[in-house]
Amino acid sequence: MNRSYQRIVPVRSHEAFTSVGMRQLGCVLTKATSVVISVHMYTFPAQGWPFSEKGGDRMLREFTPLAAHRLDEFCQHQLESTGLIFPPVDAFQLAALLRFEVVFDVAHPQRASCVTLRHGNGGQRLIVVRPEERVERLHWAVAHELGEFFAAEAIRTLGTPVDDVEPPHREWLANQLARRLLVPSRPFFVDLQRLDGDLIALKNRFSTASYEVLARRMLDATDPSVITIMDQGRITFRRSNVLERVPGLTAMEKVVWLRAHQTGLHQREESESEQVQAWAIHEPGWKREIIRTTAAWMNW
Ligand SMILES: [Zn+2]
Repeated sequence: MNRSYQRIVPVRSHEAFTSVGMRQLGCVLTKATSVVISVHMYTFPAQGWPFSEKGGDRMLREFTPLAAHRLDEFCQHQLESTGLIFPPVDAFQLAALLRFEVVFDVAHPQRASCVTLRHGNGGQRLIVVRPEERVERLHWAVAHELGEFFAAEAIRTLGTPVDDVEPPHREWLANQLARRLLVPSRPFFVDLQRLDGDLIALKNRFSTASYEVLARRMLDATDPSVITIMDQGRITFRRSNVLERVPGLTAMEKVVWLRAHQTGLHQREESESEQVQAWAIHEPGWKREIIRTTAAWMNW
């Protein structure tokens, strides 16, 4: 375990998260697949830089729990200062409260973009959005632009000079912020526990966020878990909040997933070591299933 990480992170129950939880989940998956798992070692440089130095895709994935927590707090604060505390968060209302004007343009080349018409006090900012059929995508597009707007300020709270942030990082950060604006940490983590991770019930509460945004947001919680998204029978996303490399589906995950895939009904199965929930998000012509696997409590 990285010592600097252990020392620096007093927030939430990260100790449990890193030691017992990680071992449990690693054990469950290792037993099931006989694959040796490399446990994700979080690094936390002195300045709080949330990205690893390694380059490539990994650079964008590696994100310290402390940085994640700070972004949670940052977004929670932004929402509270506008009075938007209860979900669902209406990104359009949030934009208006932050004095952005949002306009639609059917010919807009991008999903959305932001223009500053006048700088300074009384300045005017405009978010241009291309109309979309899915309302969650519209909220996401606006939240992303707000994320871009907040990116510099958020980076400052992480103790990183703003000039150091390359455009791809900025884009990634805007998505991190968008997710936290639409699905604010305080109510979400409470509901995640209260509703036992039920994606459908969570979607009813946080209706402006898509199933996918909600499922990925579950990985920001401290419970060791794996989120898998299957599209048309193929894995399109599989990630854990504690394991760097997640092995293939466990036997139980396969069974639960197949039942959801075939019946279109939500499924759940539990053993002594793992709990698997699968939700069928089926539409005409497209079958998507979202699977959440958590490690059950085990005595060590
Ligand atoms: Zn962007």
